[in-house]
Amino acid sequence: MRIVLFGPPGSGKGTQAARLIARHGIAHLSTGDMLRAAVAAGTPVGLRAKAIMDRGDLVPDEVVIGVIADRIEEEDARNGFVLDGFPRTVGQAEALATLLAERGIAIDAVIALEVDEAALLGRVEKRARETVAAGGAVRADDNPETLKRRLAAFREQSAPVADYYRRQELLSAIDGMREMDAVTAEIDRIVAEAKANAEARADG
Ligand code: ADP
Repeated sequence: MRIVLFGPPGSGKGTQAARLIARHGIAHLSTGDMLRAAVAAGTPVGLRAKAIMDRGDLVPDEVVIGVIADRIEEEDARNGFVLDGFPRTVGQAEALATLLAERGIAIDAVIALEVDEAALLGRVEKRARETVAAGGAVRADDNPETLKRRLAAFREQSAPVADYYRRQELLSAIDGMREMDAVTAEIDRIVAEAKANAEARADG
């Protein structure tokens, strides 16, 4: 299974991705996590990305595309993956299509979590509080000012990605405002359907 989880910051992609990988034994490919790891390790990618991420802007396409191209080559991604936070621009979506076509593989489903923007701020604040309570460090970009920029980036640069996949009939949009388990159940249903379709194609 190769799945794209799509949605604005705070829409629950990370939570749902964790559940998907546990259930299907596939790799979790989060560009946000990969970039934060690069920042922490001080790699050239991290050095390039840090200030951009702290501002809440998008890291340049060629940087994230390079990160993803390397990552999908790794052994644990052979069996399938959930892309979380990628693609975030139409340019990234097109590059992904090329990368996958070169390897003779394809995306099975794109699942878009639709949420009310006003609720997102509350969710991100909650995440910050929970992180502190658990003794962790709050993400540098989890504050109201930066979140506004991240939401603007989503609206302007990422929203067209949903249209791109809708045209390819790969998009399933779901209500991300429902409680977590209900969202998970809906995702499971979409993934089961995509799996059945993929198997039917393989047989036919
Ligand atoms: P969220 O979905 O909560 O905004 P992520 O962890 O997915 O958080 O991303 C954090 C930051 O990492 C983004 O605001 C952006 O700066 C950078 N980033 C992550 N993925 C991408 C991407 N595909 N393209 C460009 N920048 C990205």
